[in-house]
Amino acid sequence: MQHFASDNYAGICPEALAALVAANEGQARAYGDDEWTLRAADRLREVFETDCDVYFVFNGTAANSLALAALCQSYHSVICHQLAHVETDECGAPEFFSNGAKLLAVGGEGGKLTPSAIRETVTRRSDIHYPKPKVVTLTQTTEVATVYRPAEISAVATVAHDFGLRVHMDGARFANAVAALGVSPADLSWRAGVDVLCFGGTKMGLPVGEAVVFFDRRLAEDFAYRCKQAGQLASKMRFLAAPWLGMLADGAWLRHAQHANAMARRLAAGFAEAAGLPALFPVDANGVFVRLPSSIEQGLRERGWLFYNFIGAGGARFMCGWDTTPETVDRLIGDLRNLAQTA
Ligand SMILES: *Cc1c(COP(=O)(O)O)cnc(C)c1O
Repeated sequence: MQHFASDNYAGICPEALAALVAANEGQARAYGDDEWTLRAADRLREVFETDCDVYFVFNGTAANSLALAALCQSYHSVICHQLAHVETDECGAPEFFSNGAKLLAVGGEGGKLTPSAIRETVTRRSDIHYPKPKVVTLTQTTEVATVYRPAEISAVATVAHDFGLRVHMDGARFANAVAALGVSPADLSWRAGVDVLCFGGTKMGLPVGEAVVFFDRRLAEDFAYRCKQAGQLASKMRFLAAPWLGMLADGAWLRHAQHANAMARRLAAGFAEAAGLPALFPVDANGVFVRLPSSIEQGLRERGWLFYNFIGAGGARFMCGWDTTPETVDRLIGDLRNLAQTA
């Protein structure tokens, strides 16, 4: 049975799995000196149209935490949205790996940071008692499945850079944003001012793993040591890297992301049509938030549906993945229609 709890409920997409199996031939050098890792990094440089530095790690919490730690000292602070995964769902790992850098969580409509919020947070204090802001982190797509347009990223990055801050992007769902906007990955990252991107592989359809992409290579100094110390250097790195090759070939990653986004739109249309429930946020990408009457929420759960409602934005969250079928969406909507009629 398929669910809507998270896009990481999905299995491995066929392209990634084929590449994984293909990499399981004979022996290869360990710790990333293998041909798959070198090729996957090259492929990412092609995708981003720039000579970036690339590292593969096991998960998003490590990618974010280690990237942020690379951008600041222990007495610095990192400005994030109050719903940001780094703030709410990483168990303090960014603070831990940076030896105490403090997250400064700020509000913003639709899960987004704005230039004025950055300016206000940076200029609020300048005394020695306040942790000095050094990084801005954006989540793309946001925690409420909205998407920052390139101009919105640029506006935030310009203010950040003017104040001497670095820009990090938590791209756990970067693919969904690229697919939604139909712009180039470069336009949504370094050309808009992003210094480091954590490019999510897991939710996009890989078995495991994220890529940490440094557009400013100087920021990656000693990053390999950071990964090793944190237990994030895979010895059989080829199995982290090879699936990226399958995913990035022939635009498979964008096809899968487009599909997930389309399923979310179908779902949102169904919520509105079958039960008069509007989406709480623009359905830009692969998630839909709705406020469910408790009888309907209970009814859906009794029928076996899994979805989260602990995301800070409130409401129930329904996520679609690369494997979500139209039939699954329609079955949920059918259940919803029945519940709404008997409510
Ligand atoms: C899923 C997710 C991550 C990564 O989480 P891990 O479980 O550590 O892989 C990071 N950021 C966001 C916004 C996410 O949704």
